[in-house]
Amino acid sequence: MIVNLYNGKLLWAEDSQEGLFARSEALNHYDVIIVGGGISGALSAYSLAAEGLSIAVIDRGRAGGGSTAANMGVLQYSSDVMLHELIDQIGRDKAIRFYKLCQQALNQLQEIADTLDTSSDFTRRNSLYFASEPSHVDRLKKEYDTLAAHGFKVDYWTQEDLLSHYHFSKPAALITYSDAEVNPVRLSRGILHKLNPHQVHVFEHVEVTGIEEAVHHLKVHTSAGPFQCSQVIFATGYDSAPGLTGTKVNLMRSYAIATEPVDDLSCWKDRVLIWETRRPYVYLRTTMDGRIIAGGMDEDNPGAPHSEAFIHKRAEMIKREVHQLFPMLSLKIAFTWAAVFGQSADNLPFIGRHPTKDRIYYLLGYGGNGTVYSMVGAHILRDLILGRSNPDADIVRLARSTDSAE
Ligand SMILES: Cc1cc2nc3c(=O)[nH]c(=O)nc-3n(C[C@H](O)[C@H](O)[C@H](O)COP(=O)(O)OP(=O)(O)OC[C@H]3O[C@@H](n4cnc5c(N)ncnc54)[C@H](O)[C@@H]3O)c2cc1C
Repeated sequence: MIVNLYNGKLLWAEDSQEGLFARSEALNHYDVIIVGGGISGALSAYSLAAEGLSIAVIDRGRAGGGSTAANMGVLQYSSDVMLHELIDQIGRDKAIRFYKLCQQALNQLQEIADTLDTSSDFTRRNSLYFASEPSHVDRLKKEYDTLAAHGFKVDYWTQEDLLSHYHFSKPAALITYSDAEVNPVRLSRGILHKLNPHQVHVFEHVEVTGIEEAVHHLKVHTSAGPFQCSQVIFATGYDSAPGLTGTKVNLMRSYAIATEPVDDLSCWKDRVLIWETRRPYVYLRTTMDGRIIAGGMDEDNPGAPHSEAFIHKRAEMIKREVHQLFPMLSLKIAFTWAAVFGQSADNLPFIGRHPTKDRIYYLLGYGGNGTVYSMVGAHILRDLILGRSNPDADIVRLARSTDSAE
């Protein structure tokens, strides 16, 4: 168990501090118990509730108060591993299918966001992916060719093209279309609020401490007493994945800042989502109220730092990166935070049934596109739980490498 998923002052803190969900009287039996009320748990509850299943979502803190609250809210179908690299890694068909699934997931997230009673500020944005160094241009060009060849709408910009739209000079860039930004806490809590309270019960400040397998049901032990269900999904984020060992996950730390609202963002054409080819990268976006959120500077250290001074030092470094791109903007940091960030060895999420336990499932959206992966995973798990075949499950299955389970 990770004691601190994040430290510092979070931009979405206010949204994650809203009142608790009304505590329902637990049913004698649920079809599915979802452990974790972040975006993964909320999206799983949404897709299973649509099938008429009874669900309990159990979170040891507030729903949406885990890594979901540290999320920058950038939603992209392109991932940290470029499509042409993913093709080399897992083969052409699977790689293209995975990118298409992520693209579809963006549409599905928008459909869900559109149904909510409160706005999650879901807004479609294009992405600008620039080459950080001249030596990265060939990789970017190869990615352009690969995306274009497989039907993804993409433009390749030279240094001159880029300079004709923005004030900063980079060796080259790709523009990809129909990505999005969101307030992740409002999205996840909004989803849970939207669900039928007679069918989906949300239990906050209840910790799941163990699972006991009986012949006809599962007994879920919690700090509020035992619950009973047919199937369990662990949507526990970077925190823990009970019962699962051997999954190759690298826990790191990442940093983020949000500025005070900036008066005039007209220099930021189309308010594109900006990221780069350097690793670790810096990525940035704007918010509806004119703030700039920027993050990155990932470090290979599996815990959020405690020292405020240290977090502020990293925040100043991120601010300098933003300033280099937009020197005309006057930037005042309003929020800075540092958080645990998990990445799998092959950059794909872990989604699926436990390798040996039929009624236990995991939705672990490791990687920079965690929210998009959670949407992809919610559909895969829905099908597996309902006994439907899902050909995409193989791409993200838990035991895909040398993994083992207890
Ligand atoms: C700094 C940072 C920036 C990021 N930016 C982006 C971004 O721009 N776009 C993007 O798509 N992704 C981003 N991510 C990743 C994204 O935050 C995660 O993929 C996503 O929040 C994971 O959601 P989750 O629901 O799986 O996990 P969480 O939100 O962590 O939810 C898991 C929940 O499980 C609960 N839990 C754990 N164990 C138990 C237990 N035993 N009993 C009861 N409850 C339990 C926890 O309390 C927690 O609330 C970012 C991550 C970080 C750290």
